[in-house]
Amino acid sequence: MKNYYDVIIIGSGVAGLHTALKLSQGIDALVLSKDYAWECNTFYAQGGVAVAKDTADVTLHVADTLAAGAGHCDEDAVNLLCSMGKTVIDSFIQEGFVFDTDSDGNLLYTQEAAHSTNRILHASGDATGRAIHHFLMEKLKFPILYNTQVTDLLIDEGVCYGVKVYHANKKFNLYAKKVVIASGGVGSLYAYHTNARTISADMHGICLRHGIALRDMEMMQFHPTVFVKSDAVRKQLLSEALRGEGAMIVDSDGKRFLFDYDSRGELSPRNLVSQAIFDHAQKTKKEIFLDLRSFDCEHFKKRFPSIYFNMKNVGYDLPQTLVPISPAFHYAMGGIKTDLDGKIAGVADLYAIGEVACTGVHGANRLASNSLLEGFVFSTRVASNIEETLGDKKRVVFAQNNEKLIRDGDKLLKNELRAIMWQDAGIVREKKRLKKALNRVEEMLELQIGKLIGLRLLASRAIIQSALAREHSLGAHYILGEEKI
Ligand SMILES: Cc1cc2nc3c(=O)[nH]c(=O)nc-3n(C[C@H](O)[C@H](O)[C@H](O)COP(=O)(O)OP(=O)(O)OC[C@H]3O[C@@H](n4cnc5c(N)ncnc54)[C@H](O)[C@@H]3O)c2cc1C
Repeated sequence: MKNYYDVIIIGSGVAGLHTALKLSQGIDALVLSKDYAWECNTFYAQGGVAVAKDTADVTLHVADTLAAGAGHCDEDAVNLLCSMGKTVIDSFIQEGFVFDTDSDGNLLYTQEAAHSTNRILHASGDATGRAIHHFLMEKLKFPILYNTQVTDLLIDEGVCYGVKVYHANKKFNLYAKKVVIASGGVGSLYAYHTNARTISADMHGICLRHGIALRDMEMMQFHPTVFVKSDAVRKQLLSEALRGEGAMIVDSDGKRFLFDYDSRGELSPRNLVSQAIFDHAQKTKKEIFLDLRSFDCEHFKKRFPSIYFNMKNVGYDLPQTLVPISPAFHYAMGGIKTDLDGKIAGVADLYAIGEVACTGVHGANRLASNSLLEGFVFSTRVASNIEETLGDKKRVVFAQNNEKLIRDGDKLLKNELRAIMWQDAGIVREKKRLKKALNRVEEMLELQIGKLIGLRLLASRAIIQSALAREHSLGAHYILGEEKI
């Protein structure tokens, strides 16, 4: 197998595959995927893609995104996302992708929490991510290497030359002129999450080892409506679109308590809904449910087929049956710090895009369905930057080292870490618990551990340290005891 490429793309979600779509045929690129290509968050996305419907809506989309981000967004990034969104999505449609339409062929836009208008495009009902992923895989013109985990970046004197990988029980180096990190978020760091099993912050940890800056790592989003009463690692998400289209959140007395917290009730931004559910459950010790009974049964099955079948499999007949819900970790606003072309300061020829990256576009709280759009928009920027700057590059060969990736006992530590991150660095934070968590993570880092658990620990430490550094609640970062939730 050859080991030198123009471009290596780490990750087969929307960010990675859309970069590949946008690169021209003549470029020699390789996509790396840690597992099967579809084992990524993109595949599991349900609700859709937020996009301004027309020029007038761009201003509103910007305002909604900034409001959800709690004043912490990078405004240039938000303006770029919302203004480029329609062009990028139009181009995707021209490539042949089909979003759901009415019988006259008009695009159907739905509503989601904290959007001031209907602007969410969806496909295959509630299987938008699967439809997008399938389409991008069909269009993929470059080779893809499955079951290939990147375990390091090859960086020398501020230039990236490729990656170290683990594939088929072998460790080897792959070289490229440009490397794009599109490896997704951090879900597996938490006990309860909605993410694909491949999403474990490896690249965050690798970047930290190379002194690359992360940004906003305290900003972790917890989805309010997740069915967690199952043994599956990835918990079943009940899409935001359900609340957008009429689902209610009630306690075991049938009370719609969200209005006690925010006048928008079910349509409040997701951090407020998650924090309100957590707070109400703690205070009242009551179980919380999603009530879908306002939906017509036939319409529900057609509009939300995946949720309908997934929940039926575990004994819930929707929309008639109330579903017990809890918040669970869902999305990382923070990540590897980049500029608006996806470039990473201090390391030439290295980019990050999608959920792994942080341009500041989501601020302290992501607006629902802005992340698939982020993947589309910023991958377009990265692809064009690569096209503009790809030239000759000297080759540097890196030795293979023999670091142990996994050691006995790592699994126990992994589970302990997940519990710590959920309980002590999760939806509601308290200084003393964050400090306790930090101490334990530091202790674990001193143990004889494999490299991979070490990467998780480094990323977790970054989250905890950032949470400790932010003294007051902001967006998704909620400190116990502060008045405003
Ligand atoms: C259940 C669910 C529903 C969602 N619904 C929506 C929605 O409706 N709308 C919306 O906008 N957003 C939604 N999101 C968020 C959105 O899906 C993600 O933010 C987005 O898909 C991330 O895309 P990505 O390409 O950055 O990463 P991902 O799609 O997660 O892809 C990451 C890729 O990187 C690979 N990878 C990871 N580590 C390594 C490594 N070390 N080596 C090699 N490969 C690696 C993985 O295998 C994977 O292929 C949802 C998320 C979830 C979990």
